[in-house]
Amino acid sequence: MSSSPRAPVIVWFRQDLRLSDNPALEAARQTGQAVLPLFILDDETPGQWRRGGASRWWLHHSLAALSGALEAIGSCLLLRRGPAGAVLKALIEETGATAVFWNRCYEPFHCERDKSIKAELSSSGLDVQSFNASLLAEPWTVRNKSGDPFRVFSPFWRNIRSELDPGYPLKAPEHLPSPAEWPAGDPLKSWNLLPHNPDWAEGFNTVWTPGEAGARKRLEDFLASGARQYAGGRDRPDKPYTSGLSPHLHFGEVSPRQIVSATESVRDDIGDRNAEKFLSELGWREFAYSLLFNFPDLPEANYQAKFDRFPWREDSAALKAWQRGQTGYPMVDAGMRELWATGWMHNRVRMITASFLIKHLMIDWREGEKWFWDTLVDADLANNSASWQWVAGSGADAAPYFRIFNPVTQGEKFDPDGDYIRKWVPELARLPGKYLNQPWNAGPLILKEAGIELGKTYPAPIIDHKAARERALAAFQSLKETA
Ligand code: FAD
Repeated sequence: MSSSPRAPVIVWFRQDLRLSDNPALEAARQTGQAVLPLFILDDETPGQWRRGGASRWWLHHSLAALSGALEAIGSCLLLRRGPAGAVLKALIEETGATAVFWNRCYEPFHCERDKSIKAELSSSGLDVQSFNASLLAEPWTVRNKSGDPFRVFSPFWRNIRSELDPGYPLKAPEHLPSPAEWPAGDPLKSWNLLPHNPDWAEGFNTVWTPGEAGARKRLEDFLASGARQYAGGRDRPDKPYTSGLSPHLHFGEVSPRQIVSATESVRDDIGDRNAEKFLSELGWREFAYSLLFNFPDLPEANYQAKFDRFPWREDSAALKAWQRGQTGYPMVDAGMRELWATGWMHNRVRMITASFLIKHLMIDWREGEKWFWDTLVDADLANNSASWQWVAGSGADAAPYFRIFNPVTQGEKFDPDGDYIRKWVPELARLPGKYLNQPWNAGPLILKEAGIELGKTYPAPIIDHKAARERALAAFQSLKETA
């Protein structure tokens, strides 16, 4: 193997699509060798969760942004496709690279894959190093007094929070030394990550700017405005009071360390209560990663085994109505349509729509998890599976199954002026506020004046709330009886 000073260090980018606060990149720069930035599209391996459609849209734009940022500092992003181990071996052979550095991922199939790549490359004499770039604390370091992973959020977060010191996030390099020759890579377009015929992601462009610069701007804007209302207002889907950072965080365009550091720097302006609440949401992300790391079948299996006996219903028509935002419950439909149009949904509405699928329709949470996986730009294995299990009541520290959201009162409480529903369910826009969450209770005259024909211009409810609630509670009771 070549050991010339021009022999490159490969920096394998994965879910860390940024130049700043990137420890693998910084370590490579510090070797003084040439740096070869690489991204591998490796999502065809059986057993892994292949990226969903919305996530692929984001990935395309994020890679384009990273590529541009690398070119601006005299470097380049090499794109290759295939099983990562084989791609790396071929590239090492081609370039005489002496080292491979990356930042860690935590999905079970990534952990397994990376472990075997590390063992194989190290045994052939390469310097292989991995770093933490996406969590505040490594999941294997956060343990309760008995040495076990936490199963409850509050003590978990207290444990991390008490030692939280983000230090100074690393600066982006101003220049990267290039290899003598750039190996050939795939053109990004050839990966066909963007949808066409139809281009269902058209609306995404108006909401999102994937990439590190977009992430930085979103963080700055949030800290200058929405963060000031965060603690009291984060449950309001009609207001811009949450950060919208989730896809940027998933793709690693911003690190949690950078977010903590930026939040601390404006703590006096936004207030302690808002700052702490916001940081604790990053804590939920950490908790989800800890659960996934310690219970790798979280995306597929009930965390609480008693839910294996739950009598889920097969109902493809109801599932379809839910997916399309045609359930007849305006708050549920607004959320599902926001998701389809923008690739994102407000957290409160994710809880309402998920609860409706699981409890009103009694459809297996894994069906909802799959749909979100395909349609969310922030689709994240840890957050998605932990959250679905949380709503189902089958997860760790989960909402109790018998707490069943009433979609009408949830809508009235969290969208009090009806702006959110009117935006996403425009066919109801002219309905007076009193009936907006329950159009079936409006008299024929009111419906007529609002231009609504229930069952034609907007669906009648696909299920009665009271009956659905009783059915779900009875099903839950049967679990207890067979325990
Ligand atoms: P903010 O309120 O600004 O919070 C800041 C960051 O903290 C978020 O970007 C996110 O990274 C993290 N965070 C906030 N709330 C949670 C939470 N409840 N659990 C874990 N992390 C959280 N989040 C995803 O990132 N990907 C998913 O695939 C995902 N699927 C979900 C599915 C369901 C059924 C539910 C109920 C929630 C899901 N969430 C998921 C969590 C949460 O809804 C989103 O992280 C949040 O809405 C993102 O908006 P934001 O960036 O404005 O959040």
